[in-house]
Amino acid sequence: NPFVRARYLLSAHNPRQLPADGGFEVAFAGRSNAGKSSALNAICQQNALARVSKTPGRTQQLVFFDFAPTGANPPGDKYLVDLPGYGYAKVPQDLQAHWQAFIESYFATRQALRGLVVVMDIRHPLKDYDRQMLGYAVRRDLPAHVLLTKADKLSRGAAANTLQAVRMELSRAFGDTVSVQTFSGESKQGVDEARAVLGRWLEL
Ligand code: GDP
Repeated sequence: NPFVRARYLLSAHNPRQLPADGGFEVAFAGRSNAGKSSALNAICQQNALARVSKTPGRTQQLVFFDFAPTGANPPGDKYLVDLPGYGYAKVPQDLQAHWQAFIESYFATRQALRGLVVVMDIRHPLKDYDRQMLGYAVRRDLPAHVLLTKADKLSRGAAANTLQAVRMELSRAFGDTVSVQTFSGESKQGVDEARAVLGRWLEL
């Protein structure tokens, strides 16, 4: 599992702070509290990897994790990118506009971007923001993959029904470039499936 080597590399507050655009990266998006940090931690088998993304006051940034051996220089060119959790009511409007613009330009221009993962609470899937993020990827012809997380909170039958309904809705709205699976950072259900998708996109 190459993801166990993931480690924090840097945080970008604006486009100038992004690492050189020459490698492979996969971005993670999700509404605040959807379970994005837990998903990253489960995939990378590290309890505190994504904690840095959650440091109060530091949520408005793109956080890059890479897979190079410790101390390697250069650090490598394959990244997981933790996008700021969206849906924070408390963020002032001008900051939101700044972020909207940064994220939009990142999606529109970033050559290294190979795919988007959108983490959704299986009990509240496909909210407006989720659809907006998926739209950014689909418009660039990038594949997207949805993790319906906290699947442990539903019965097997209910989780399967939601998966089926979301799969149909994604196919209707976005065509066949968006895939979906159930997931749980708690029970680790679906972790291998998610790693397989990321590994393919990142050529890891
Ligand atoms: P983020 O804001 O999207 O990064 O969400 P977090 O990963 O911090 O999770 C938000 C809350 O949901 C926390 O209380 C987690 O413990 C809980 N949580 C996250 N993933 C799961 C899961 O798969 N199952 C269950 N039962 N709880 C989860």
